Amino acid sequence: MGDYILAIDQGTTSSRAIIFDKKGSIISSGQKEHEQILPRAGWVEHDAVEIWHNVQEVIGLALSRADLTRHHIEAVGITNQRETTVVWDRTTGQPVHNAIVWQDTRTQSIVDRIAGDEGVDRFKDIVGLPLATYFAGTKIAWILENVDGVKERAEAGELMYGTTDSWVLWNLTGGSDGGVHVTDVTNASRTLFMDLETLEWRDDILSEFGVPRSMMPEIRSSSEIYGYAEDSSLLRETPISGILGDQQAATFGQAAFHKGESKNTYGTGNFLIFNTGEEIVRSQNGLLTTPCYKLGDQPTQYALEGSIAVTGSLIQWLRDQLGIISSAPEVEELAKQVDDNGGVYFVPAFSGLFAPYWRPDARGALVGLTRFSNRNHIARAALEAVAFQTRDVLDAVNADAGVELSELRVDGGMVANDTLMQFQADVIGVPVVRPVIAETTALGAAYAAGLAVGFWADLDEVADNWQEDTRWEPAMEDSERDRQLRNWHKAVTKSMDWVDDDVK
Ligand code: ADP
Repeated sequence: MGDYILAIDQGTTSSRAIIFDKKGSIISSGQKEHEQILPRAGWVEHDAVEIWHNVQEVIGLALSRADLTRHHIEAVGITNQRETTVVWDRTTGQPVHNAIVWQDTRTQSIVDRIAGDEGVDRFKDIVGLPLATYFAGTKIAWILENVDGVKERAEAGELMYGTTDSWVLWNLTGGSDGGVHVTDVTNASRTLFMDLETLEWRDDILSEFGVPRSMMPEIRSSSEIYGYAEDSSLLRETPISGILGDQQAATFGQAAFHKGESKNTYGTGNFLIFNTGEEIVRSQNGLLTTPCYKLGDQPTQYALEGSIAVTGSLIQWLRDQLGIISSAPEVEELAKQVDDNGGVYFVPAFSGLFAPYWRPDARGALVGLTRFSNRNHIARAALEAVAFQTRDVLDAVNADAGVELSELRVDGGMVANDTLMQFQADVIGVPVVRPVIAETTALGAAYAAGLAVGFWADLDEVADNWQEDTRWEPAMEDSERDRQLRNWHKAVTKSMDWVDDDVK
């Protein structure tokens, strides 16, 4: 038996391969960024071929850095940026268009058309999601409607759709020469096409979107052997046995296996997932309902999710567009120069507001500015916006689930920021806790893969690996918290009703 599990983390900004041992410790890793293609305002694309090449390269890096070969690897897990849509030719393996990324908002007119008089919640009871540009189904429809000849090729059964888990898996298992075309329940649930109860594609919704069923991957559990790496691969004959969308993977990596457990990931965007066990809780408060994970033929575990589009990417914006910092960690140095936000609030509704508001008509708003405001206040307001948005999502979770959270487990790139984490504890009024292994996304995929092949015996063995690293206790007075939240909510209203029909 191999001593390690290799996880492929195909993320929004980069692809990573990380090798874990039984304790969940990182043995080695490789990482490569890919190009963010921004053809016009609101459009975000990736080159799926570049991504596949990078995945192969980082697998090689991770193996060679630890002097390991496929013989040391017991199984491979995949986690991925969700919703990002690839459509490719099943014979040539060539994508018909760049991948359309989850942040891309070009599909608003498709959303409006399908919502019609019934509104964006038309399919919500069935699929757990409102109609929104965020979800993959709208992106598939856009490619079918806008790329020459693609609709006919799709109808002739020549094309395949997948998020990057399916794309990587299909290529890894042989591509046009026998590659397996599957996805797991967590990824399938982000299309708008999967029935939450039956875990199958809905033919009626597919046909509303004009998407032939033959394009769709088979929906499988998150933890089972899907196939084996093909002969020419560095991982030849190694089973690929775990797939989880990135946020569900992070939940798994945080060992939030049971009802009432949760995690919040601070990356490009923020994603809070709250495990509701075997119960499908339909949100009344702007959250999504989604599978949390499914192990083989065991019952599906469900979750409520609060997705926030812009958090870490706001810090990137301060760096790349505004130029007031030259690296992400510098935002903390600026923020610490001032005692408070000086009355400045920043609502980063760059692509509308996601949970719990779901307002595509909102745009970014920087409010409360005076002659006194400076870049330190703006940096501070940007960090605080991340925490305020999380507070809004937590309020929605508390209302839907009817339980108050007792602590918040956190992970992702921004949790290195101490000022942010303290402020987060202050505005939610419960402790914020970071685990020793912060690479929870890749770790979750490794756990799913390892459980399928008996590398870990059960969830209890996995949960024993979780260890606390840092804890931030709330220290803000209630009256001050209330005042800040009141101002924040006032600022949120200023961002709404901005986009008119004739917006350019
Ligand atoms: P993803 O997996 O979505 O690509 P990561 O979890 O790697 O994201 O987190 C990267 C994000 O975190 C970037 O958007 C970056 O701006 C932000 N970030 C990284 N370090 C810091 C920091 N010290 N303070 C604030 N933001 C940070």
